[in-house]
Amino acid sequence: MKTIRDFDLNNKKVIIRVDFNVPIKDGVITDDTRIKESLKTINYAIDNNAKVILMSHLGRIKEESDKLKNTLKPVSVRLSELLNKQVIFVPTTRGEELENAINNLNNGDVLLMENTRFEDLPDKKESKNNEELGKYWASLGDVYINDAFGTAHRAHASNVGIASNLESGIGFLIEKELDNLLPAINNPSRPFTVILGGAKVSDKIGVIENLVKKADYILIGGGMAFTFLKAKGIEIGKSLLDEESIDFCKNILKENESKIILPIDVVTELKECFITDITKDETGLDIGSKTVKLFKQYLDSSKTIIWNGPVGMFEEDRYSNGTKGICEILKNIEATKIAGGGDTASAVKNFGYEEAFTHISTGGGASLELLEGKVLPGIDIIK
Ligand code: ADP
Ligand code: MG
Repeated sequence: MKTIRDFDLNNKKVIIRVDFNVPIKDGVITDDTRIKESLKTINYAIDNNAKVILMSHLGRIKEESDKLKNTLKPVSVRLSELLNKQVIFVPTTRGEELENAINNLNNGDVLLMENTRFEDLPDKKESKNNEELGKYWASLGDVYINDAFGTAHRAHASNVGIASNLESGIGFLIEKELDNLLPAINNPSRPFTVILGGAKVSDKIGVIENLVKKADYILIGGGMAFTFLKAKGIEIGKSLLDEESIDFCKNILKENESKIILPIDVVTELKECFITDITKDETGLDIGSKTVKLFKQYLDSSKTIIWNGPVGMFEEDRYSNGTKGICEILKNIEATKIAGGGDTASAVKNFGYEEAFTHISTGGGASLELLEGKVLPGIDIIK
């Protein structure tokens, strides 16, 4: 697959699709991680004398009033600070003002166009990959670089649409995600162990189906463990139950008896106890310390570990020990260690274990779809 390094960018109008979908409250950016993560690709284009045209979405635009709170203007200000260079912000997504601004760019200049999803009014042109829009945006540049991993699982005009009409490649951020995730999933050093948690089984059925074929062990925690336990006939009290996934759990357990490892103890609102001692009024909210030890036995000898989904309701301190315990185990072993999923990534970072991982995947939905073995349309179009 072509990357930004494969193009001569000198004097070229280079459209870079970045992920500037940052949280903004009252006009103030509360977390600029995504902007920072895009700097490597942007700086590379600047250093190679490109005329840089940046595109990104921000939030959802369903009605006119959504535009005010989802303008990319504050992002252009923050980006100017981070690049130490004035970013030209164009408050439209098409037309003369945008075209003139692009034609006036000098080599090394950076322009940020307004939120691509402003084109979702009235008829979802961006989100439904309207053909005319993709062609039009492509006509604004000479080269297209996709570096928005977080939206790569969607076919939108600003990724698939442009790439269908222009020479294209991927940026450093997408390259790093693929270089870490694909070999771990498809050609892992063994033993290969997957840790799965999170809320609902139904959110992760695709992941389980794909990884159960590839992994040596699947350690299951989090809310989803209780549907598996229920499928084995265990009383789970008021713990999270994903009724419609019980049959799925029964089947996958039957076919992979020795591969799937379930919790043996839990933390409820009342106590820490064996899984068989949950009463009908209790809720399992974290894995217990015996389960952490059990999981450790599998993890200690593993050479590849992929983790998706916190093993407890980690947002609450008293139910965070399981998730922290997994972090601590991983910190002390040598293996390829990958964390993916929005909540898993934020748990790992908040608990201060970023360094323990080989790679933390940033695209929630996109990394899940890679774990499901799916092809991401925003990347596939570039092959
Ligand atoms: P990711 O975003 O990493 O893919 P998920 O969104 O699937 O992860 O799951 C994260 C959520 O699962 C968290 O909000 C967490 O509180 C919840 N969760 C984990 N364990 C439990 C549990 N035992 N009961 C209820 N919710 C849980
Ligand atoms: Mg989540």
